[in-house]
Amino acid sequence: MKFVLPILLLIVTSLAASAQPGLLTPATEATARQLMEEALASDLAWDIVESLTTEVGPRLAGSEAEARARDWGSELGEQLNFDRVMIEEFELPYWERGDMSITMTAPYRQALYGTALGGSGASPQSEELEAEIAYFRTVDELMAVEDSALIGRIAFVDGDAIVPSQTGAGYGSANQRRRIGWQHAQRAGAEALVVRSVGSDSHRFPHTGMMTPDGTEWADMPVIAVSNPDADHLRRLYAAGNSIRLDLHSSAGWRGESRSGNVVLDLIGREKPEEIVLIGGHLDSWDLGTGAVDDGAGIAITTAAAALIAQLPQRPRRTIRVVMFGAEEVGLRGAQAYAETHASELAAHQVATESDFGAGNIWQLVSNVSEAGTPAINAIGKIIAPLGIIRGGSDVPGGGPDISPMAARGVPTINLMQDGMDYFDLHHTPDDTLDKIDPEHLAQNVAAYVVFAYLAAELDVEFRE
Ligand SMILES: [Zn+2]
Repeated sequence: MKFVLPILLLIVTSLAASAQPGLLTPATEATARQLMEEALASDLAWDIVESLTTEVGPRLAGSEAEARARDWGSELGEQLNFDRVMIEEFELPYWERGDMSITMTAPYRQALYGTALGGSGASPQSEELEAEIAYFRTVDELMAVEDSALIGRIAFVDGDAIVPSQTGAGYGSANQRRRIGWQHAQRAGAEALVVRSVGSDSHRFPHTGMMTPDGTEWADMPVIAVSNPDADHLRRLYAAGNSIRLDLHSSAGWRGESRSGNVVLDLIGREKPEEIVLIGGHLDSWDLGTGAVDDGAGIAITTAAAALIAQLPQRPRRTIRVVMFGAEEVGLRGAQAYAETHASELAAHQVATESDFGAGNIWQLVSNVSEAGTPAINAIGKIIAPLGIIRGGSDVPGGGPDISPMAARGVPTINLMQDGMDYFDLHHTPDDTLDKIDPEHLAQNVAAYVVFAYLAAELDVEFRE
């Protein structure tokens, strides 16, 4: 791994000239604008995501690969001149995909494209199981089924493909068939559950994903997501009155306790080292692709932004912290561990945000900080406006999945919202690979993050209430 840092041609006039608290001085603004220009011209984020996806590869939570990713992250932090590099490990139950197959055997034989969902179990003795499906148009229909009504059957929950949108609206509701279908299939005694993938694409890649919100409970039966075209196919056959049979096999399951961890990289603040501006992404990924858009991009964007700031002649007033969260995909385990490990520090976290929505251009800045801090966010919004970013609401909670436990404990957030039009085409599929990232979009993200991180750490403004 070799990273070429740009040589910053910054003419940093006296930063100490900020006489009035909170005021964006011409010198501070000039530094922010220069950082933005450097980010647009820099390949650093691309080099980081290329290195992560190529040298480490897929990084399933709790796996040996995720441990290698932590070593990669801490080595990267050292190379990019962070002042403090920490790996904070924690335990978690480890789920492994194993192997699976799914074939339609009636009304005729046809291979389907499916993948096991995180938290799902194996077929009996890892042998084939073959049964007629019980078709449910929606997960609500499955939820209404009576106990033991599906003995000897494979439940199939159809639903609809996600309609692509900038914000990814529609993911949450579609996700219900992944999140809450299996409990009812299990209650009704089904042999297995098959669901339509939670995705917006029309190719035959299935989308994996966790079945449970926090990874603490799991199914005793196979749960398999099939591709959108396969689900369409089953729907048409069912509508035509066919009895549909599936043959499936899965050896997925829990393999006992393992370890994950967060990698924490700090640029220590020159005046208020205890006050933290937190940015980051998640280091783990699903194992079908190489986790480029989810979330190698977020790791690259935020690390590159902080690394550019590390090139300044002096550190900003506050600490800028990059967190590479572990085990996000299996239930925000790293986020929970961070909030617990740093519980006593959370009151000194000024503002936090995560990049975890792919690698598309940022188009909107929203925030949820104090009234006193909102003008500073507005000022950041003005500087990044030429990147094509509009200033959205100032009372929009969020900040990203791994930020949610600290936001729930009072840490203010902002969100640099990325264009998610194609995000759910790729999300959790074998197609989540490096070639899907546009280097120019990636650099635009870094440009917005560098301005935010630098000014949030430099300006004498309270983002907390
Ligand atoms: Zn993600």
